[in-house]
Amino acid sequence: MDCDTSSEYCGEYIRNSDIFIRFGEPYPAFQCVSCKGDFLEFDFSNNRIKIRVTGPEITDFVKSENEQFIKAGIGIRIYLKIPGFSDDVLQNIESIIEKKIGDLISEIKGVSHENLRDEIVIKIRKAEVENGLSFEKIGYCLSKLILRDYQYVDFVYTEIITDQISVNKELEIVKRIYEKRDKAAKMLRDENVSKFYLCKMCQNATPEHVCIITPDRPSVCGTIHWQEAQAFETVDPFGSISGFEKGEILNEKSGEYSGINETMKTETKGKIKKLSLYSLYENPHTTGASVNIIAFAIPELNGFGIIDRQTDFPTVNGLTFENLKASVSGGIQIPGFMGIGEPYLYSPNFFKKEGGWRNVVWISSKLKEKVIDKTENREIAEIIKTIPTENDVADIYELKKYYKFDEREIKEIYTEKPENMKKMKIEFLSIPIIENYENESKKQNIRKIKIPNVKITIKK
Ligand code: SF4
Repeated sequence: MDCDTSSEYCGEYIRNSDIFIRFGEPYPAFQCVSCKGDFLEFDFSNNRIKIRVTGPEITDFVKSENEQFIKAGIGIRIYLKIPGFSDDVLQNIESIIEKKIGDLISEIKGVSHENLRDEIVIKIRKAEVENGLSFEKIGYCLSKLILRDYQYVDFVYTEIITDQISVNKELEIVKRIYEKRDKAAKMLRDENVSKFYLCKMCQNATPEHVCIITPDRPSVCGTIHWQEAQAFETVDPFGSISGFEKGEILNEKSGEYSGINETMKTETKGKIKKLSLYSLYENPHTTGASVNIIAFAIPELNGFGIIDRQTDFPTVNGLTFENLKASVSGGIQIPGFMGIGEPYLYSPNFFKKEGGWRNVVWISSKLKEKVIDKTENREIAEIIKTIPTENDVADIYELKKYYKFDEREIKEIYTEKPENMKKMKIEFLSIPIIENYENESKKQNIRKIKIPNVKITIKK
């Protein structure tokens, strides 16, 4: 049943021409870990692992002639039996272990995994399928790796769902689970707790990156809330998440706390001395490799934009999500550019220092719909409805026109220029160097990038 696993396979790139099957967008694909479940109904037969594949096995999928590789949906449901902890604690560690599924699956040779929750993308290489890799084996290896990394887990029941009708049905169930988790997390506020948490789980991919997790500012990856961080520390006190005293509040508007500054100084060996929770420009939070949403400065309008991973279009400054991700996800502070988790979009302290949603001047259309639908603050929803997307404006020139910027009919908030705006300096933007710009730009529909006040140093 075993397959070839090693941490060296993590981050392995699988070329399109080598893919046998790709799960995920545009088809539904999700992962969900649950610590509830009636384990009596599962026959473990003296084993700690049980696997079930609901739907066709890997080799039952057949490629049609005009397909480069097969595309389909998938569901991964994992039930864990963890004795000795209360339901509250168990409920909160589910999403932490769920977050690790990607890293663990990527340890299997020939399998790559990206993203979280119902946005996962899994690619499986042809060569490994030819060598006998199956969903059953993937489920078994994943379960074994969970038992290796989480020694307090007694039993693992893994179900891999490949039947497309069942995937759709289960997706509705897991979406309610995600919503319940997010809702529970909104009950607390930063001022109600004495401890914040730091997470170093992404350091294998981004060695310098440390996330600060507070009730009002959940993690950059968007999946670890304060309560979950607290539960994780309870079950694994020497793990990658640990708590610290938040200390005194030094600046209410930017969210600067003495405890965070001291912790960051220690954790980054003095490289980061100050960090503000609610500011995009002033001592901003850093970004690691796990990021689905990016906020970026639009200095021409003294505002900022927000783009999500699902958007392929370039933003108004000509950069795509992937361009921005390559630039921000190095674990260092870049005023004006930052990865954020989706739950932070609903926080009352969302970029409070810069005026929050009133200072957002562009947003990708899918994210706009999602946030309007999910936000409980109707006043904020009305503001978001007025923000242009890629369907309204193509570039900065059109964005300025949209806001009648040159006629000075601008919103009051744009008159406040963020303090660090002039100091912005991006040193490692990865923009493709185009030798024959004029011809290539016409062919590839590439726009010129002009960002005043920003010095861009492109390393060839
Ligand atoms: S993004 Fe942050 S919170 Fe999420 S796993 Fe990485 S370090 Fe932890």
